[in-house]
Amino acid sequence: MKEEEIIAARRSESWREELRKSKKNKERTDIPRVHMNELDAIYRSHSRKEEVNLGLTAEQALLEAQRCLDCPNPACMTGCPVGINIPTFIKYIEIGKFLDAAKTLKETSALPAVCGRVCPQEKQCEAQCIHLKMKKEPVAVGYLERFAADYERESGQMAVPETAPANGTKIAVVGSGPAGLSFAGDMAKRGYDVTVFEALHEIGGVLKYGIPEFRLPNRIVDVEINILKQMGVKFLNNCIVGKTISYEDLHEDGFKGIFAASGAGLPNFMNIPGENLIGVMSSNEYLTRVNLMDAASPESDTPVLIGKRVAVIGGGNTAMDSVRTARRLGADRAIIVYRRSEEEMPARIEEVKHAKEEGIEFLTLHNPIEYLGDETGHVKQMRLQKMALGEPDASGRRRPVPIEGAIDAIEVDEVIVSVGVSPNPLIPSTFPGLEVSKWGTIVVNSDTMQSALPDVYAGGDIVRGGATVILAMGDGRKAAAAIDTALKG
Ligand SMILES: Cc1cc2nc3c(=O)[nH]c(=O)nc-3n(C[C@H](O)[C@H](O)[C@H](O)COP(=O)(O)OP(=O)(O)OC[C@H]3O[C@@H](n4cnc5c(N)ncnc54)[C@H](O)[C@@H]3O)c2cc1C
Ligand code: SF4
Repeated sequence: MKEEEIIAARRSESWREELRKSKKNKERTDIPRVHMNELDAIYRSHSRKEEVNLGLTAEQALLEAQRCLDCPNPACMTGCPVGINIPTFIKYIEIGKFLDAAKTLKETSALPAVCGRVCPQEKQCEAQCIHLKMKKEPVAVGYLERFAADYERESGQMAVPETAPANGTKIAVVGSGPAGLSFAGDMAKRGYDVTVFEALHEIGGVLKYGIPEFRLPNRIVDVEINILKQMGVKFLNNCIVGKTISYEDLHEDGFKGIFAASGAGLPNFMNIPGENLIGVMSSNEYLTRVNLMDAASPESDTPVLIGKRVAVIGGGNTAMDSVRTARRLGADRAIIVYRRSEEEMPARIEEVKHAKEEGIEFLTLHNPIEYLGDETGHVKQMRLQKMALGEPDASGRRRPVPIEGAIDAIEVDEVIVSVGVSPNPLIPSTFPGLEVSKWGTIVVNSDTMQSALPDVYAGGDIVRGGATVILAMGDGRKAAAAIDTALKG
């Protein structure tokens, strides 16, 4: 059956038809969108590990689920990169079958509790919801996804997806971020013998070393990783493919296919004077040290600098995570410095809102041009070029243009540079024959994710540059389907 036929068949099940008839569309669209409960802003701006969003109660979820019209052509699904059957899982919530809702999510998503927390739903599924056409707020698909996944986990009745009988074919995955995890889950379901090789001591990629616990608690990621383990996926950490073991070693060990999901963890800098001063670092270093190495703890062997006047350069999710972390670590002034206006910021709207509530200052239309140090080599001041917005550039966002002679200076004792990332170069440079773009990403066939090396597939940030969790997961799913077809053919 084609996907549209499956959607239609599930929609025409008698319980769904009765549910639709039980309430008029007008009554459904008149229900106001639910509001997610949150930790108090002053309290949370000093609490690094407590999650800001508190989730929906069952009553809130039951009411929000009623807002969904169970559309015949669910536009929301076209906005979901992994094709979650959104109306089906929401309608299960409406009838109180929360475990069935969670099961529906897991048909296509290996990490629903993660996606329910960090996916940019406002740009994806929710941006397509029919409610917007009626000038109403979209159904809170992300909140409901999180609710169902959390309910299942807290119920202690986590369903382990069914796996096909073992076929004995060995598959290697390089990297344990969302691309690698989603690929591993789909291959395990198909009966393959999957080993994930991870360079770091922790499994989870950016979900662990990048995104802080106040947005995505590690225990949530671990539960989802444990499900993969129960499905038979093996994890080998502290193993750098390209150094600890080579492409050739993987062949000698009998791996018949490789999925490269090594991410984009190489920080970009602006190459301006003073970037080498003590106290100037990349967000990648800052977040990894705080999140993965506990470097904010006074007992740490390698403590991170705790700034009181911290400037974070950039306007993406990574910048927001860094500045909110700095605030939680005790910064009196934690400032976002961004060269465009707030409208162009790539960060999720919710993160910007939360940051403001926590006392983060936003210095938009400013761009650093130099950092100045004190006699001990520590950063003490930054010089900023004031900007105005010009015509839109290739990204569609209005280009920032310097205002001649308009220079500001502010006192800082820590600067975190968060102006983008580049792909990790090790796999592209140690897999002979891979085609690599001028940006250092692995070139693949976008239908199959197959690279120039027939047995190597790739996906996530190593192919896209810095992107999103759900796009990385979508790549993993696509690659799993393609490699399975190729190996069976
Ligand atoms: C701070 C931060 C916040 C973010 N917030 C969001 C958000 O809110 N929503 C969202 O959708 N996206 C967000 N993103 C982006 C998102 O996290 C990434 O797009 C996504 O994690 C990419 O997944 P991936 O699996 O391709 O790579 P990664 O998650 O980077 O995982 C790659 C893994 O490969 C390992 N590795 C690398 N080289 C090797 C090697 N040679 N051998 C073995 N292992 C290797 C790495 O150690 C890493 O664990 C954020 C990113 C950051 C940095
Ligand atoms: S588009 Fe909105 S109302 Fe329609 S099925 Fe999707 S979530 Fe429900």
